Amino acid sequence: MRQKRAKAYERLMASYERYFNFRRPYQILLDDEFAANLHRAKLSPQKQLDMCMRSETKLMITQCAMHSLYLKGSEHQPVVDLAKTFERRKCNHKEAIPVHECIASVVGPSNKHRYVVATTDPKLRKQLHTVPGTPIVHYNRMVLVLEPPSEVTTQRIQKIEGEKVSQSVIEKRELKEMARADDGSESEGKEDKQQPVKKKRKGPKGPNPLSAKKKKTQSQPSSSDKKEHREQQQQQQQQQPREQTEQPKKKKSRRRKHGGSGAGAEGESSTAAPATE
Ligand SMILES: [Zn+2]
Repeated sequence: MRQKRAKAYERLMASYERYFNFRRPYQILLDDEFAANLHRAKLSPQKQLDMCMRSETKLMITQCAMHSLYLKGSEHQPVVDLAKTFERRKCNHKEAIPVHECIASVVGPSNKHRYVVATTDPKLRKQLHTVPGTPIVHYNRMVLVLEPPSEVTTQRIQKIEGEKVSQSVIEKRELKEMARADDGSESEGKEDKQQPVKKKRKGPKGPNPLSAKKKKTQSQPSSSDKKEHREQQQQQQQQQPREQTEQPKKKKSRRRKHGGSGAGAEGESSTAAPATE
């Protein structure tokens, strides 16, 4: 399961790279609660997020989220110290606003800075589901969970890629299953059922077609080779048609009769004579 999850996350991040220009190291925007939760569980955010993203990551925190950590009081000082090691993301909110609003404003309507948002706030998660190309990591029972792509994200990919969507739908379903197994929640289950499955592909739902490309060419002749081969075959057939096509010949001659006398000439030999008058 763990291996399967890692592969799925890797594929998912690869598609964020491909369709939304994410680049490594990924920039992770953590909210205060996320950082606090991990710290409480004695987990290193850097290590956990690197592992989850399958890549190096750059941890970031907004001024407002930092402010919120300060407000938690002195017993949270270690978290504050930890968060100070993250890169500070200027949000330019002169007076601190609620963290979920701050992060939503930093991400903006299109997530143009390509943040991965690490949050435990359901409100923020829901809001970010409306921004295409925004990966969300939440934390559940000691496990970081990379959410399946949101509906708008899938639609955007669909728009870009047209019919290749079915693959991502499969992946999405896979990820949703994992997410559900993780938190046992039904919160996202409903959308899931409405997800239209456009075409079922019968082929194996193997790895990313991009990464599989190389292997393909080894054993099979390329399409141009095939074409040549086909042409050769056709030529050969044309050169020796007589002996091989005895039977079709009969058919042909019959067809010729039909053609000559028009429709309904089936019984030409005996009864058709009057009909031709
Ligand atoms: Zn702010």
